[in-house]
Amino acid sequence: MTPDVSVLTPVDPATGRPHPPLPCSSAEDVAAAVERARRAAPAWARAGVRERATLIERGIAALGHPETAEALAASITSEMGKPLAKARGEVAVARSRFAPYAERAEAAARPTVAREGGVEVEVRVCPLGVAAVIGPWNFPVATPNNLVLSSLLMGNTVVFKPSEVTPRTGLAYAERLAEALPAGVLSVVVGGGEVGAEILRRGVDLVAFTGSIRTGQAIMRAAADRMTRLVLELGGKDPLVVLPGADLDRAAAFAAAQGFGNSGQVCVAVERAIVHRDVADAFRDRLVAAAEALRVGDPREADTDLGPLATAAQRDHVLAQVEAAVAAGARACTAVRCWGPGFYMAPLVLDRVEPSMGIVQEETFGPVVTVETVASADEAVARANATRYGLGASVFGPDEEAAAVARRLEAGMVGINRGLSAAAGAPWVGWKMSGYGYARSVEGMRQFGVPRTTARDVAEA
Ligand code: NAD
Repeated sequence: MTPDVSVLTPVDPATGRPHPPLPCSSAEDVAAAVERARRAAPAWARAGVRERATLIERGIAALGHPETAEALAASITSEMGKPLAKARGEVAVARSRFAPYAERAEAAARPTVAREGGVEVEVRVCPLGVAAVIGPWNFPVATPNNLVLSSLLMGNTVVFKPSEVTPRTGLAYAERLAEALPAGVLSVVVGGGEVGAEILRRGVDLVAFTGSIRTGQAIMRAAADRMTRLVLELGGKDPLVVLPGADLDRAAAFAAAQGFGNSGQVCVAVERAIVHRDVADAFRDRLVAAAEALRVGDPREADTDLGPLATAAQRDHVLAQVEAAVAAGARACTAVRCWGPGFYMAPLVLDRVEPSMGIVQEETFGPVVTVETVASADEAVARANATRYGLGASVFGPDEEAAAVARRLEAGMVGINRGLSAAAGAPWVGWKMSGYGYARSVEGMRQFGVPRTTARDVAEA
């Protein structure tokens, strides 16, 4: 029997029990949302950044109402299994993004003027029109919120489609924000990939997308028909390089936090530790101890570190990669353990992995860190770069040596003796197949608009 794609049946990953079914948006619903966004676009574009920011800020404040914020956090937990305390943190982070984004949008929208030979040229970044924001499930509020805020602040109206794994979270977030905005400025449609594809078929001017490389490629193909502008934030396979002389306690603590946090379902999770042989055993032992200390369980319990994986399919994907690697000679340094009800998996450290293995080449998106042993910094760099991914990376070691390695890594965001950071207005950016276009930072904001130049003759001074 083919599944009914007109209805979503999300599942609570902590129990495996289905939530009540939710009707998908029909093709007519999608068309109506795009049409509403199209009608609302000219006035929203004319409003200017300040006026838009004032309205958006009201919506963001509404999301911070204690009851709303708590309901949103509970929804995140019940749809994708993140521990409740982390879900609360996610909602708070989403709200905190507003002020810096508004500041950067104002800077990005400010016209610049160039003069040469009696000609004055003004460059002004104009809104594109209607933006589709299509989101993933791993940070179902914080991640789409980045793209929704950027699109809106830069003067576009938005049709948002949350992941089919987290539809009620997406609806709750967008409906509350939309209440503060003029009609049609922010609409939400729900459904799976076919609903996302339908938004593109209806003709939008920008697709701001976070998700897998495979879907990013499908969007890029669909966008070719109209040369639709794209900002694509895609998957990662982040390496952590550990050099001799590194603070191994810190390196292992970082690998555990960034490899197992959110049950590894983080685009910039540490998935591969590439460790110099002189420190490999000591690093691995620390990482194993950290993995074994994590409490996996009910995400609604206060002392839970890691909840379940978000879906049965995700658990099966992770387990299949692990089993194939073990069959090909990798060693499980902690127990390979999955249990139910729900989609639980214990954090796992695998060593003796080879570069050719699927678990080294393809995104895992689960609580697994592989440890590869290398003989030199050169070999570490070569291995780190030998994938199609290039999102984040980190290097732990003596400062100068770590910095030298960092300069050679093919990743958009690199951390030296720490994780990567998009602080202080830096872009959130992927290299190679991990991204196309980018968001955040003043430059990132400009990608949510189109520069237009206006030239006129001026009297020479
Ligand atoms: P996914 O690609 O399966 O789905 C993402 C969204 O795309 C969903 O809303 C889905 O319904 C929609 N979609 C699917 N097919 C479509 C199509 N043909 N046209 C339009 N929309 C379509 O990704 P996911 O499993 O939800 O999320 C996990 C992935 O997201 C991982 O690869 C992860 O690394 C990545 N991610 C990246 C970042 C980043 O900042 N780079 C952040 C978070 C997650």
